[in-house]
Amino acid sequence: MVTENKKSFCQHSKIYEVKKNFDSRGYLQPIREVGTNKIVFKAQDIYISQSKKFAIRGVHLQLSSPPAKKIITVIEGEIIAVTICCNNKCKLFGQARKFELSSKKSEALLVPKLQAFGYLVLENKTLIITCMDQPYDITKDFAINPVEFFTNDIQINRAIISDRDQKASNLDVFLSKLHNKTLSKTRKS
Ligand SMILES: [Zn+2]
Repeated sequence: MVTENKKSFCQHSKIYEVKKNFDSRGYLQPIREVGTNKIVFKAQDIYISQSKKFAIRGVHLQLSSPPAKKIITVIEGEIIAVTICCNNKCKLFGQARKFELSSKKSEALLVPKLQAFGYLVLENKTLIITCMDQPYDITKDFAINPVEFFTNDIQINRAIISDRDQKASNLDVFLSKLHNKTLSKTRKS
């Protein structure tokens, strides 16, 4: 278990409770700090994706300028999310943390800047909404091979992984390329 220094300058992924609006707004709303009315997140770009059981998406890191924060909400089904701190000035650099997200709970995962993110899908027809506070830039989206993060969750030969993610470097190689600034684009725009 990772302990977090509250004075850390580096923000890490965390679960927020979201109120379901029982009308056409659904789950989509600004995320507010608990106990205050301060908005910590407002979406600019929104993506909806449907995945099959055992699909793995990511792990990806956005290096757009300014870097985007993401909010992940599962509206149908269940996932295990993984996020990794990629800030080499942080004590938690390179550490992966996992979160279970289910449509049965009114929760969202906030993924701050410099935190890589990916997930394993646990149910068929899992529906996920990803909100970003900056426009998505496909040319600044970098991939980490996801296999090492989910070997305890499923038999990895049953996982559905994109070609791009299968060919991606593992975490150690990725982080050294990131900080030597030798990451190459893994996808054309
Ligand atoms: Zn950190």
